[in-house]
Amino acid sequence: MSPHLSALVIDELAAGLPSADAAAHLATCTECQQRLAAVKQASATISAMPAFQQRLDAVTLGEPARRGPWLRLVSIALPVAAALALVVFWPRGDDVLLKGAPTVELIANEKPVMVAKPGDRVTLAVGGAGATHAIVFGVDASGTVTKLWPAGGEAAPIAPGARVSLDVSFEVTPGDLVLLGFFTKTTQPTEPIREAIERSVAGARAPLEVLAPSGFGAVARSRLKVTP
Ligand SMILES: [Zn+2]
Repeated sequence: MSPHLSALVIDELAAGLPSADAAAHLATCTECQQRLAAVKQASATISAMPAFQQRLDAVTLGEPARRGPWLRLVSIALPVAAALALVVFWPRGDDVLLKGAPTVELIANEKPVMVAKPGDRVTLAVGGAGATHAIVFGVDASGTVTKLWPAGGEAAPIAPGARVSLDVSFEVTPGDLVLLGFFTKTTQPTEPIREAIERSVAGARAPLEVLAPSGFGAVARSRLKVTP
């Protein structure tokens, strides 16, 4: 059987873009069928959230802190994702349709990891979809925001490609993890992004709802489900 479909291809299919190769694989792979179904459902769920559109600038505007409810949102969303557990969603502008969407993925054995166990080793990969610089943050189940890449305080250059390894590896720890990749065509400091994510989490938004701050073209989001 051909390799499983990438998160990028799954999202393109969810967005309605035709692909004969992907269709051939999908016809025979229940795992990818389930991944596609979950991405469609997650996208529909997030897009249907009240005031989703009005939140386009909310990350940079900030809001009074309110703790808690996003954790509940995540736990409600999990059964949807349970069969596959990597949920990817991004906005679909013309830019995305023309160049493909940016991606952020955890990789093991050269394949995207959707479900992992504590102690597993994974590496980080991104696809910039035309952007030249990236920053990747992780948000754990307690809402703690950790910069995963780069080590420095500025967005770092990325090579072109749909799945470019960032040459950092991680040991999976208990608790689901949301990955947020921010993509830009200029260098940008990382700390304002961290603060925007922390404001978003404190403002009771699910981490998957964090939107691109000004200066960033796109955000890629994915979720790693960690099973005991
Ligand atoms: Zn497959």
